[in-house]
Amino acid sequence: MTAPIEKLEVRQGDITRLAVDAIVNAANRSLLGGGGVDGAIHRAAGPELLAECRTLGGCPTGEARLTMGYRLPARYVIHTVGPVYRGRHEDARLLTSCYRHSLALAAQRGARTIAFPAVSCGVYGYPIEAACGIAVDATLAYLAEEDRIERVIYVLFSASDRRIYEDHIARRGQA
Ligand code: ADP
Repeated sequence: MTAPIEKLEVRQGDITRLAVDAIVNAANRSLLGGGGVDGAIHRAAGPELLAECRTLGGCPTGEARLTMGYRLPARYVIHTVGPVYRGRHEDARLLTSCYRHSLALAAQRGARTIAFPAVSCGVYGYPIEAACGIAVDATLAYLAEEDRIERVIYVLFSASDRRIYEDHIARRGQA
């Protein structure tokens, strides 16, 4: 069995280009599209994605919902709603919950490869270092319990964010 940390990968670029089983969208509670990565995913997937999202009736913060990927190379989109950062303990709990729910949905639908953007780290204001620690902790905890997921890719837009993830995972690997 592959150790959970060996299943983690960090890349820089546009998540809409990834041919994985599922990409995660940093959505808002309406699930009806927005800016940032959400806008990019809807543009790349085409209008069928919004049509399916309309049938879902929104999603509470900390949970996730699955749709097809339509014109994306990814088979599924998992829409999760991260917390707006306010510096409370609740923020970390909700962000952890986004990762757990997204991974569980992916596993339930037979997805073996999943890619995450830095959920909540754009307009929702979560500091990237803290969010990275939460993302990696939540993913490793999940992978330790459930081994159907083979690869988890964190896709960062900027080189500085990519380095934060790479350094964090390298330190975790040495611990
Ligand atoms: P949130 O509302 O959850 O903060 P945003 O979409 O504003 O979500 O930002 C989340 C992260 O996604 C940010 O770090 C942003 O730089 C990044 N991002 C934006 N577009 C893309 C994309 N096409 N691929 C990967 N990451 C992206």
